[in-house]
Amino acid sequence: MASLKYTPKQHITEIHSRLSKTFREGRTLPNSDAIMASLKADLGRHPFEATLPELGPMVSSALHAVENLDKWNSPEKPQVEAWRSGWDTTIFKAPKGTVLSISPWNFPWVLTILPLIGAIAAGCTCLIKPSEHAQASAALMEKLIPQYLDPDAYAVCLGAVEETTHVLGLKWDHIFYTGSTSVGRIIAEAAAKQLTPVTLELGGQSPVFVDGDSTNIEIAAKRILWGKQQNAGQITVLSWQVCVAPNHVFVQEQHQSALVEAFRKAYDSFWPKGPLDSSSEMACVLNARHYKRNKSLLSRTKGKVVIGGQAGQDLRIEPAIVTGVKLDDPLMEEEIFGPILPIIPVENVDAAISHIQSGSTPLVIYVFTENEETKNKFVQRTQSGQLIFNETFAQVAVYEIPFGGQGQSGYGSYLGKYTFDTFTHQRGYINVPADAKTEGFMQGRYPPYSAPALEF
Ligand code: NAD
Repeated sequence: MASLKYTPKQHITEIHSRLSKTFREGRTLPNSDAIMASLKADLGRHPFEATLPELGPMVSSALHAVENLDKWNSPEKPQVEAWRSGWDTTIFKAPKGTVLSISPWNFPWVLTILPLIGAIAAGCTCLIKPSEHAQASAALMEKLIPQYLDPDAYAVCLGAVEETTHVLGLKWDHIFYTGSTSVGRIIAEAAAKQLTPVTLELGGQSPVFVDGDSTNIEIAAKRILWGKQQNAGQITVLSWQVCVAPNHVFVQEQHQSALVEAFRKAYDSFWPKGPLDSSSEMACVLNARHYKRNKSLLSRTKGKVVIGGQAGQDLRIEPAIVTGVKLDDPLMEEEIFGPILPIIPVENVDAAISHIQSGSTPLVIYVFTENEETKNKFVQRTQSGQLIFNETFAQVAVYEIPFGGQGQSGYGSYLGKYTFDTFTHQRGYINVPADAKTEGFMQGRYPPYSAPALEF
């Protein structure tokens, strides 16, 4: 029997002081307060808002992965044709390798950690590069992640364009990118040089259609305004810059004024003292650049600002409802990513669909209708990452459907099993028996080809 080498006493003392130090530093205690503080520092987020859209999904995604990993990771035995029934045909789930995840500032934690959970579940090693515009969050990630995850397998690098450009020059086995469409192109180009597979979770101009003929306009207005202004359930701080926020609303011309009235009612109930009143806890935009950009859009629009639109202090702008907007309006040039909601009157559902078809493919289309024919038209004749009826935002909480874009809103998808699949290579495996029966069957394929041809 091999003799067990005992731990030297001096080493035991060192271990004891290391453990005590770790405890005193609070490293075995929950980190949620520190994460919430980083979100407050970066984005002014209320703790409730930090919990619902960031901490909550991080925890639930990790638990969901743990609960389902055995199933996701199990080898699959596909149904095969009868003549190959004696072969062992299997699909194994292999980790892709060393992967990279680059994330944006608007949900700095959840959009970094969810891909990381998938990478860990798949068995990859992973470098994360959080946004330099959410500095406190990025710095905290850099501090915490090596404390809880094997630093030889998972790492954080900080930086802006120069550092990310360097990172992109390295060879990765998958790149997962969430951010703007313009930078998405740079990522795809860099990945192509190394033939690296990429997931691009990009932005876009997600449209809404309100079918005034069949839907409850008041409920639609409330749900749209909520989806436009919030992160995931609270009417508070910094919420305007969300990739799945409704960008603009199509409505039949004759229902435009009813929709505006419904928006006014929702608006007054959300912000009884006005959105700029300190009691409203209304969101600000990220920085002076976005503030200026939104103000400029409001000054240049040829539509009519019928609700809100005043610029306040502290990077706050009253949510603005703009009517009579045309497709060539400055508001429609790019993703608004701010508190402005243009309404585009159209003749009918077909006109709305044709406008959507002629634009870039959105991340999501929201349709408010009870009419099955209208629903079918959207299913059959439009393209988008996702298609949601009678609600905004619901898709981010549903792990059973893939979350991702199409066309200019990106490619690839994630959430739940789809994140695991993103970082997994489906490795085909066949083991063909070398027995006499199988070999007899193979006989006809070997040269010389003098034997009669096989008949099928
Ligand atoms: P961004 O594209 O400016 O930045 C995202 C990341 O790319 C950051 O980590 C940044 O450091 C890096 N980056 C920026 N410029 C780069 C360059 N030239 N070369 C290499 N890397 C570079 O995006 P953002 O402003 O942080 O985020 C806003 C955008 O993200 C919006 O368009 C929004 O719709 C989109 N978004 C999409 C989703 C989604 O799930 N589809 C989620 C959130 C945000």
